[in-house]
Amino acid sequence: MTKATMLLGFMLSTVGWAGERTLTICLPLSPKAEDVQTVWLAKVYATRIYRLIGVELRWKSTCSQAEIEAAGTRLAPNLTTVGIEWARTAPAALPPGARASARPFQPTGTRITVYQDRVAFPVGDRNRAAAVLGHVLAHEIGHVLLGHDGHSQEGLMKPHWSGREQNGMWCKLISFTAVEGEIIRRRLDRRRVGLAAIPEPSRATLPDFSK
Ligand SMILES: [Zn+2]
Repeated sequence: MTKATMLLGFMLSTVGWAGERTLTICLPLSPKAEDVQTVWLAKVYATRIYRLIGVELRWKSTCSQAEIEAAGTRLAPNLTTVGIEWARTAPAALPPGARASARPFQPTGTRITVYQDRVAFPVGDRNRAAAVLGHVLAHEIGHVLLGHDGHSQEGLMKPHWSGREQNGMWCKLISFTAVEGEIIRRRLDRRRVGLAAIPEPSRATLPDFSK
């Protein structure tokens, strides 16, 4: 099977699934017109990663202020809509290699920033770039859904992925750990019973962190 055939099958398999745990992600179109298709493919990868834990991502390029800024508090964050923004350059303090950052303790609004100068889409290697960006988006959304900035020793929430892992992402997704998936599902399920019912995330229930 060719790489292109595998990729097509991979993309088509994302069509026609509707889960109960749905999260709207507001991501404006890439500022660079030539990158729009690559970013679209990155969203497909992120969508697939979340389907592995039973969560459906719905992507919108434009959202109303009311959607992005829906009511949320530190104890009861807005886990219905998460806003993502593009920034031209990364702040100097951002660790080398970091392509995006999340603000998981902010209860609502735009909580993820992707840095254009850290995201490269080289012509001829866009599948790999899209796969990596898709995992980056899924990782940062994961911080928001988990409600913390900690990292795991394995899987999607590792602080760093090896070059080998990044090279293989286009055909082998890196997922959340079982514990992380369960925490995310529980936090999303509790949206239905009212804002006040979402508990403070407890680090004691989370996987090991590297920092
Ligand atoms: Zn992280």
